[in-house]
Amino acid sequence: MTDTERPITHPDYDVVVVGSGFAGIYALWTARQRGLSVRGFERGADVGGTWYWNAYPGARCDVESYNYAYFFNSDIVRDWSWSDACAGQKEIQRYLRFVAERCDVVKDITFNTKVLSARYDEATGLWALRTSADDTVTCRYPVLAIGALSDPKAPDIEGVADFKGEAYFTSSWPKDRVVDLRGKRVGVIGTGSSGVQVIPEIAKVASEVHVFQRTANYVTPTNGGPMDAALVAALRDDPQAVRRAFRETYGGHTPLRMGDERFVELDAAGRERVLREAWAGNYTALAFRDAYLPEANAAISDFIRQRMHEQVNDPWTADHLVPWDHPYGGKRPCQSDVYLQTFNLPHVRLVSLPETPIEKILPDGIKTSTETIPLDVIVYATGFDAISGPVFAIDIQGMGGRKMKDAWADGPLNYLGTMVHGFPNLFLPSSAMSPSVLSNMATLAEQQVDFIFDTIEWLDQHGRPQLHPRADSQEFWRKETLRYAERRPGALTTKSWYSGANIPGKARVFMVYCGGFKRYNETCYRELQNDFPGYELLNAPGRGEAA
Ligand code: NAP
Repeated sequence: MTDTERPITHPDYDVVVVGSGFAGIYALWTARQRGLSVRGFERGADVGGTWYWNAYPGARCDVESYNYAYFFNSDIVRDWSWSDACAGQKEIQRYLRFVAERCDVVKDITFNTKVLSARYDEATGLWALRTSADDTVTCRYPVLAIGALSDPKAPDIEGVADFKGEAYFTSSWPKDRVVDLRGKRVGVIGTGSSGVQVIPEIAKVASEVHVFQRTANYVTPTNGGPMDAALVAALRDDPQAVRRAFRETYGGHTPLRMGDERFVELDAAGRERVLREAWAGNYTALAFRDAYLPEANAAISDFIRQRMHEQVNDPWTADHLVPWDHPYGGKRPCQSDVYLQTFNLPHVRLVSLPETPIEKILPDGIKTSTETIPLDVIVYATGFDAISGPVFAIDIQGMGGRKMKDAWADGPLNYLGTMVHGFPNLFLPSSAMSPSVLSNMATLAEQQVDFIFDTIEWLDQHGRPQLHPRADSQEFWRKETLRYAERRPGALTTKSWYSGANIPGKARVFMVYCGGFKRYNETCYRELQNDFPGYELLNAPGRGEAA
């Protein structure tokens, strides 16, 4: 009988936390604060999650770091200073290490260890998690803080393995050495947020850069630059008030700058004036009060296309770098102050894949339908199997031996973005159908972890060791997610990773709740205040005490 088959009688821990990004670190700390025994597993060599792995040159957060940070501890807010309003990857990873040390949770984490499977034991209501170290730990509550963008998409291109030069993924850039691209001929595949950030950096040193673009994206200026001292002072003055205030907003951050005037009340000249003012103030996406209207969004999209076009000298390249196929916000827009101008450099060239598709990767370059491009290096900025990918990377088995892969065969289904019917006590922060990437992920991490541990506390206080959402609650939440997605211009008509369209064969389901952070938070806590009417409460016979 193997470890995972042996009946569980006593859990090793109350809680096992998988992952040590924003949600994982806070979950470990919260478990300790609530008097629960806890153990963490992390497949990387350090904390940071997405900010550990995506160490490519130019990696930077395009949400302002004074928003994209923890607020649960006022001392941490006061003791950390950001060097730039939009911090780079190294600094954010350092910040997460700083918080983990302050919270004294590093000692709880086993690094360089993947969790391979999680199996629910019906008889005891406990979970057994098997790791890559061939170890099995048992717990009452697994918290899979595994992130939404942590499972890189394998490049679906013939010949990838044949390439004899250097090959790198932005999603797992080497951290143990400096990648020297000086004087090399580099091909970059992918022009999403990662490609848009890495390409200008590569162009600074490489002798040739060939950018293989399948779909163009919107690129607007960043909000980077020096921190506003008055804003920092205000955030530090009362961090708990800031924390409460974030939860009252749509996106979970400081109120965004927004135009005062309404698109429907302006004539053509007025609209152009408002858009120009918004561009100068860097709030074009919200230039109008009613920017959510499809006709306002169309005007915003068109205006951004014009501003993008005029930054690129060569007309063919400019035409191809501008996205004509989807409205602004239909897929994740990119931000950069230097990306478009990079194509004015003589050694940087765009290869448009819809016209000249890649036929195969050769040992020494890339063959398109019209030419062979010799390369020393290929950089894959090809994205992720988002949101459900990291969940499927763990073999999860719930009640009745049902696998998560089967439960989600037609796309992710859950209630309130955290729990799945038939998988009692298993928590999935930052997974599908939460505000996720359309909100401030740091605020979301704190909110979801609070809700998870408030739920655990409620269960313990009420002597009800287990719960899982009812199937009809999941159906309600699926419809809610769809209802709000329908109101977002382009959400359901654009091919994007939001709906799984970037992965061949993946079920197409829009996976992000667009009803806003405030509504999401209130819906979660309504459940708790009303003793979880949307869930089924179970008893677990024969449960032993946690260590
Ligand atoms: P992505 O947005 O999914 O972009 C992947 C790119 O690779 C797309 O241009 C895609 O083309 C292309 N691609 C994929 N497979 C291909 C193939 N076989 N042949 C040619 N092209 C291919 O991935 P990402 O850039 O890594 O970004 C993912 C998300 O991470 C972002 O949307 C964002 O939420 C987050 N992120 C944030 C930041 C930031 O804060 N600044 C930075 C990086 C990432 P198609 O579009 O045609 O599929």
